[in-house]
Amino acid sequence: MYDLVIKDGIVIDPERGIRTIASIGITNGIIKRITREDIEGKSIIDAGGLIVSPGFIDIHTHVDAKEDLGKCMAIQGVTSVVSGNCGLNTYPVDKFYKTFEKGGLVVNEAMLIGHTFELRSQVGITDIFEPASKEQINEMVKLCEDAFKAGAFGLSFGIEYQPGSSFDEMLELAKVSAKYGRMIAVHTRHDAFRAVEGIHEALKLAELTGASLQFAHLEHTFGVGLMTEVLDSLKRARKKGYDVWADSGLYSAFATLTSAPCFDDGCAEKFGVDYSDFVIATGTYAGSRCTRELLKQVRKEEPNSFTIGFTNRDSDAVEAIKEPFVMLSSDIIPSENPDEGHPQATGTVPKLFRWISREMGLLTTLEAINKAAFLPAERLGLTNKGRIKVGADADIVIFNERTIRDTSDYSIYGNPKEKPQGISAVIIDGKIVVKDNEFINLKAGKALRKPLEYYEL
Ligand SMILES: [Zn+2]
Ligand SMILES: [Zn+2]
Repeated sequence: MYDLVIKDGIVIDPERGIRTIASIGITNGIIKRITREDIEGKSIIDAGGLIVSPGFIDIHTHVDAKEDLGKCMAIQGVTSVVSGNCGLNTYPVDKFYKTFEKGGLVVNEAMLIGHTFELRSQVGITDIFEPASKEQINEMVKLCEDAFKAGAFGLSFGIEYQPGSSFDEMLELAKVSAKYGRMIAVHTRHDAFRAVEGIHEALKLAELTGASLQFAHLEHTFGVGLMTEVLDSLKRARKKGYDVWADSGLYSAFATLTSAPCFDDGCAEKFGVDYSDFVIATGTYAGSRCTRELLKQVRKEEPNSFTIGFTNRDSDAVEAIKEPFVMLSSDIIPSENPDEGHPQATGTVPKLFRWISREMGLLTTLEAINKAAFLPAERLGLTNKGRIKVGADADIVIFNERTIRDTSDYSIYGNPKEKPQGISAVIIDGKIVVKDNEFINLKAGKALRKPLEYYEL
């Protein structure tokens, strides 16, 4: 008798490339049996005609232990996330592991230590245009090391947000990341049509230190028509043997802090769009299209609100996600109110199946699951996640491949947090977390800790 049995589903295991009808027996949060025989469970889910997939893993989020964001992830079938991206971890790493080691999160969560907002402020840098001194760099290296020892999966850069961040500080932090075998999630230095320069700067880190790089949200940073050039640069680096990967979402409009330098005066001209192509996403002015004046005003009054820029191309997002070394990511952003934000919050995964798989026919269901589950699991070294096999963690999503779809939309058109359709159950650690779009358990997720490794280079 198993704790939970998922009966007669179409089981997909991206690791072995298997798609077959089977039942799964789960006990103590672990997949114990995959079989065509009749098996008994204390609780049973009938998955006839439905896909039984490993839970999705979102390698680029800003969930940072926030329950409302965790719920947005779980509702779209994401069972593990990486937080602390773009140089910003809003939850201190040490405290995060102490608090959530044994559970209490909506989804499983790995944490990164953020250079740009966290480390720089911890060593006393208050001016975003000021580079760190030699002493401050040494101090940051030490803090970064402490975070790795506590269990952080890596380091994150958000260089664009603090232009004073020097190559020297990036380099020293890359050295320590390489030494501990941790990845660096890179939000590069430039935006709009200069964005490619940031790729070359970061690739130098891989060349000089051997650090493993994860280029963040390709469609947001490079979707202005630069994708072919960016992917070519990354492919060349990979060919030379550098450990370089990337992630991308599927939305041609990006969202970031209204105070971010990409919204400095003249931004519409820089991106070649109109000020009305910027829409305030959160806060008092949520849903308003900008004028030059309104954008200035909101930056002053609510600098921590988020604004969406309709600057990018769908074709660039498609080009990125097709690339074998690019995995799916949402870049979910925090918002004060439940109905604000960016449709990526609840739509990213279902959009992959609806748009890229079903409508465009660019990926099979198995290939899409590979991009959203197995590839990020491999990238993060989560050898018991992202696959359906005996002994693997029972993080599972059950959905209908013919009907799964995103329904969230930009606030000027609809609800950015609308729940997706076609997902019947989400299971984390063997516990049913979401059933028919209703939350059943909000505490099944655990903090994921990276085991300590050390490399002499
Ligand atoms: Zn970013
Ligand atoms: Zn981000």
